[in-house]
Amino acid sequence: MNVPFVDLKAQYEAIKEEIASEMQAVIDRTAFVSGPFVQDFEQRFAEYCGSQYAIAVGSGTAALWCALIAAGIGPGDEVITSTSTFIATAEAISFCGATPRFVDIDERTYTLAPEQLEAAINERTRAIIPVHLFGQMADMGPIMEIAKRHGLVVIEDACQAHGAEYRGQRAGSIADAGCFSFYPGKNLGAYGEGGAVVTDNPDIAERIRVFRDHGQSKKYYHGIVGWNTRMHGLQGAVLGVKLKYIDQWNEQRRQHAQQYGTLLGPVDGIVTPVEADYAKHVYHVYAIRVQERDSLLTTLGDKGISCGIHYPIPVHLQEAYSELGHQNGDFPVAEACASSFLSLPMFPELTEEQIAYVTQEVGNYMAVTV
Ligand SMILES: *Cc1c(COP(=O)(O)O)cnc(C)c1O
Repeated sequence: MNVPFVDLKAQYEAIKEEIASEMQAVIDRTAFVSGPFVQDFEQRFAEYCGSQYAIAVGSGTAALWCALIAAGIGPGDEVITSTSTFIATAEAISFCGATPRFVDIDERTYTLAPEQLEAAINERTRAIIPVHLFGQMADMGPIMEIAKRHGLVVIEDACQAHGAEYRGQRAGSIADAGCFSFYPGKNLGAYGEGGAVVTDNPDIAERIRVFRDHGQSKKYYHGIVGWNTRMHGLQGAVLGVKLKYIDQWNEQRRQHAQQYGTLLGPVDGIVTPVEADYAKHVYHVYAIRVQERDSLLTTLGDKGISCGIHYPIPVHLQEAYSELGHQNGDFPVAEACASSFLSLPMFPELTEEQIAYVTQEVGNYMAVTV
């Protein structure tokens, strides 16, 4: 049996006709950049998240960058985030001219550990970016409370968490702004690059709208030096179609996670993901922890099962951030996770038979190595 890590083709087959007619409509109206399809998606995505505004941009990385710029973050400022993330979170901080300050993650949820937050705050700290890693939200209650006490901006990195919830509130809707990626493999994915910021703050929304479009609020009248990071009409149309199915797809992911958990729970040496009592997890990634991660990855590959590693090196130890002077041991939980995380196949169209096969092969491997 072959089990791919993700299968974008299977999803496309199910919505092919709708996608074709919407894409044709974009071309017929020559609505190639921004325009009605993007605006319609923005409005519906804001509603979906439970936010007032959504501003579509060119990627999730751009969404984070625009949100930081709109919040006034710049040179000399520090922004706190967790080191267990995709590097884009830190890149966005660096490209405002600010400096990332990392904190470790919670051992159970793999998201920013709130109890480590205060120690990382100093007189240069301006913002916090909690990352809703793998589709589970960070513990936003204490994070928002600490931010409020210190007068800090909070921007959610919800790039892996479309539709996830914290005590019934959707990802992106709790902090000053929430940032999403629509990279094809994300829970809500475009057919190319895309991203969005959601917010209830009209000033942040307006600043991003102007910034993403060359700093113009009226054509050729440029109030600020901006950038070009607008969403393509075709991506707005694709996302508009796919938004109708996101809840159904997330529910399928949750069922797969439950089946994985039931079958892998009894296997010695495997740590399965935990859904926090505050959370609705949407399982963008289903990461287990296992000591012999690399050889299990190879063994499963030989059996036709494709897995991933998210991520092999935490950001504080990446060469790109060597100037920050971090070393092994600085963030022990994130480091231990980076060397033991293994992401199993996870996508809505995965079948029960495929999950049974994956878990059986994991069990076989563990039986001979543990
Ligand atoms: C995917 C991702 C991003 C970046 O999104 P792009 O659309 O690829 O630029 C940022 N943060 C996290 C946590 C992500 O998973």
